Amino acid sequence: MERSDVIIIGSGINSLVAAALLSKSGQKVLVLERNSQAGGAIKTVTTATLPGFTHELLSSWHPLFVGGPAYGELKADLEARGLVYLNTDKPTGVVCEGGSAILSTDLAATAAEFARLGDGDAWTNMLNEFLGKIDLAFGLLGADLWRSNSLKLLRTARKRFGNRGLVATGAELLEPASPWLDRTFTSPVSKALLAPWALHNGLGPDDAASAFITKVIGAAVALGGMPVPVGGGIKLVDALTSILADNGGTLITDADVVKINVSGGRATGVKLADGREFAADKSILASATPQALYQGLLKGENLPVETTKSAESFRYGRSAIQIHLALSEPPAWKADANLKDVAIVHVLDGMNSLSESVNASNRGYLPKRPTIVVGQPTAVDKSRAPEGKFILWLQLQENPQKILGDLAGEIAPGDGSWSDERLSAYADRVIDQLSEQITNLKSATLAKVVLGPKQIEEMNKNLVGGDPYAGDCRIDQYAVWRPLASATGHKTPIKGLWHIGASTHPGPGLGGGSGYLVAKRLTQKRLFKR
Ligand SMILES: Cc1cc2nc3c(=O)[nH]c(=O)nc-3n(C[C@H](O)[C@H](O)[C@H](O)COP(=O)(O)OP(=O)(O)OC[C@H]3O[C@@H](n4cnc5c(N)ncnc54)[C@H](O)[C@@H]3O)c2cc1C
Repeated sequence: MERSDVIIIGSGINSLVAAALLSKSGQKVLVLERNSQAGGAIKTVTTATLPGFTHELLSSWHPLFVGGPAYGELKADLEARGLVYLNTDKPTGVVCEGGSAILSTDLAATAAEFARLGDGDAWTNMLNEFLGKIDLAFGLLGADLWRSNSLKLLRTARKRFGNRGLVATGAELLEPASPWLDRTFTSPVSKALLAPWALHNGLGPDDAASAFITKVIGAAVALGGMPVPVGGGIKLVDALTSILADNGGTLITDADVVKINVSGGRATGVKLADGREFAADKSILASATPQALYQGLLKGENLPVETTKSAESFRYGRSAIQIHLALSEPPAWKADANLKDVAIVHVLDGMNSLSESVNASNRGYLPKRPTIVVGQPTAVDKSRAPEGKFILWLQLQENPQKILGDLAGEIAPGDGSWSDERLSAYADRVIDQLSEQITNLKSATLAKVVLGPKQIEEMNKNLVGGDPYAGDCRIDQYAVWRPLASATGHKTPIKGLWHIGASTHPGPGLGGGSGYLVAKRLTQKRLFKR
């Protein structure tokens, strides 16, 4: 049987970051991926619409990776393998009933934009206040919360705010976005510019901690922009895979792991669906959902009851829908022609429609006026389309896993599934609504691809029911409670087995955080050896 030091199950960003770091540290690493291509939710294709158009079928935007510690550590290796990031000074904008706005990485321009909306002081005060705590905010989201160095974070916070202040900060962390936005800003446009960003961490504006997430993402894009790799996320996947290979590691695709072998309470290797087996001498890292790990890969093993019980009750969030368009020319935005240069424009009626759509979809209803995330990759990377042409990456995040009804009363729920018919009817409605804002949308569309919850899960089995974040991110399944209320971070009850991926802390996104944290843990030199 082939032996490695470390086996990594799955080849998403967390797995590949861990693979690169561990192989660079001298460990022999084997990555096993059930799909025929590596990358997980990074899926760049040139065949989705028309020749010359490159689409990111799933994830597209890399601020979390470029702003994260994994990139900090691997930057030189990645650049040596041809990875180039492009950025924009216009990361986000909004079109809503009250008007439109663009947020820029030029802080003076953004301050002027908020001043135009009557919220200049509110934005500047918010940003300055947040910058005073930015180390703690990013520390909290990036730290291994079960290790002693996270206590350092707590001590810093206590020193800065005092005991009472620390408790008050806890309340601030838990505040929902809607009351915070209503209290802080006067213009409905300012509120609509910031509020939809909570969606990108799986939250709605009325969820606990959504104000904190909105501030973190708002500040991160205002300071860091919206980077994307030239040519698409596949370039990052290729560069990480090449670091692995150059350091003696191996990636095998079409390798569906069905069992983690355990002996004497320790993970010793894995078995594939086709019967092949591989041994791991030191560690196994599994990028899987809690159910897939504890009820599938470890089925039949002796596990603590609290682990199996909390894995069983791990919930999934709303489903995603992606619509990809190849356009013959740039979009003509009615509200402001400059919106064509913005990376991500949110189109929504306002805070109330956002709240209504999130709650409707949480309760099984198709929203009447969904929030449309209009990604414009060509605004940042021209190589994604032939000269003069354009692509749109449209994302909808307010979709029920099972359809019980339609707030617009137009689409019959049938058996509740996302059938092709219901998906196509809903996508047409979204295109009609977007055409109210992009006047040439229909005439410029050369080709369209719609991916519903079913197709998204088929592409990556960790995205259960099309949940793009591999698990509901509300507070009871976040931070110290992710992946499980009963788990100690990435550690599992099986020795040598580590749980990574979007279902674990620090959650979804392309930061590669869980892979980074576990790799650090496994490569850290021990000061004292027993
Ligand atoms: C539609 C969509 C859009 C998104 N947009 C963005 C964005 O723009 N920016 C951003 O930061 N984040 C975005 N996200 C979130 C982000 O892409 C994900 O959170 C992240 O990529 C998850 O990485 P991961 O390491 O958890 O692994 P995943 O990408 O989930 O990959 C896991 C891999 O493991 C494999 N696997 C699972 N089980 C097994 C097994 N038993 N044997 C072998 N292989 C197995 C799967 O096939 C899969 O390839 C988006 C997600 C989606 C779905």
